[in-house]
Amino acid sequence: MNTQDFIALEERYNARNYKPLNVVLERGEGIWVWDVEGNRYLDFLSAYSALNQGHVHPRILQTMIEQASRLPLTSRAFRNDQLPLLAQEICELTGFDMMLPMNSGAEAVETALKAARKWGYQVKGVPENRAEIITCHGNFQGRTISVISFSTEAQYREGFGPFTPGFVTVPYGDADALEAAITPNTVAFSVEPIQGEAGVIIPPDGYLRRIRDICTRHNVLLIADEIQCGLGRTGQLFATDWEDVKPDVVTIGKALSGGFYPVSAVLARRDVLGVFRPGDHGSTFGGNPLACAVARSALKVLVEEGMIENARHLGEYLKGRLERIESEHIAEVRGRGLLIGVELKPQAGGARRFCEMLMQHGLLCKETHDNVIRFAPPLIITRPDIDWAFERIEQVLMTA
Ligand SMILES: *Cc1c(COP(=O)(O)O)cnc(C)c1O
Repeated sequence: MNTQDFIALEERYNARNYKPLNVVLERGEGIWVWDVEGNRYLDFLSAYSALNQGHVHPRILQTMIEQASRLPLTSRAFRNDQLPLLAQEICELTGFDMMLPMNSGAEAVETALKAARKWGYQVKGVPENRAEIITCHGNFQGRTISVISFSTEAQYREGFGPFTPGFVTVPYGDADALEAAITPNTVAFSVEPIQGEAGVIIPPDGYLRRIRDICTRHNVLLIADEIQCGLGRTGQLFATDWEDVKPDVVTIGKALSGGFYPVSAVLARRDVLGVFRPGDHGSTFGGNPLACAVARSALKVLVEEGMIENARHLGEYLKGRLERIESEHIAEVRGRGLLIGVELKPQAGGARRFCEMLMQHGLLCKETHDNVIRFAPPLIITRPDIDWAFERIEQVLMTA
């Protein structure tokens, strides 16, 4: 079967909820992937930052094989010998008191919202069923019905109502708007420290510190969604570390498994996650021993192999080079660490055609919304490989 055969099958039998680039991948190693025709590409998207450790990292693979052959799943009806170790290691690494493991990112977000509501009723004393949660314009936190209930993207909501009540949105990056929206029933402010899907939107300097201060003064939980920008992507363990801000609750996912398996988690203070009693919340696969073993290994290699520092240094280097491209198409280059968005001018004809051309040149990346190309290679990338990619990016942006 060739590329066209695979595409035809997928279009026929699989729901068309994505519009992927027409490359059919069959193998990956480190920063590289190969398609079914044998062509090699540099992965400059990393599965939306789920592959910070690169494809098929050998140490995580070894853990995966060993744990899969020993004990993949127990359910939480019984205890297993991996969950306690992951919980301890993740709390020691991040400084939070407790963890609650889930599978997908959207589930971690749902879990954080449930914890915040219950905290609001039990700890803050909000009257029953009156809890409000403030979110931001342009947010992307997953695709469940409650999460799209506070999306401001028309297509994410169209045809999926009725929606979950209890959410308010304020402009992103505007701390005054947050403060003005807080009422006595506000239990939490849920925010991405950098909005990835919205086009790598970085809030103004000082924003994270200001929202931390506002939430503290009003006894509102600050929930940071670090599913995309956390775990080293921006050159710090968490993107909030750039302003030395400690949220009350953090959601992580994506790179938590190095791309091997869906693993997510909520991290929080004890008074927040402590609201859950047995039976309040759960997941058959959440906290399973395979997920926990893989996550332990994925976190270990992220830290031990210097990936976070590498993201910081090479991100700065790549952003600097991108900023010096003198292409008539570029409106702005934004980024922190190895999460970089190149915004094109409206007259450039959309980011999609540039991604298709880059694919022809052996570089895989993806447009986000109409006019932004997101660059997010695995954090194990080296400077010569960044240069290899840069030459192609420059060539496409200069000649297209
Ligand atoms: C990807 C993402 C999610 C959702 O994660 P899924 O695993 O796709 O459910 C939530 N928040 C942010 C910031 C994300 O980038």
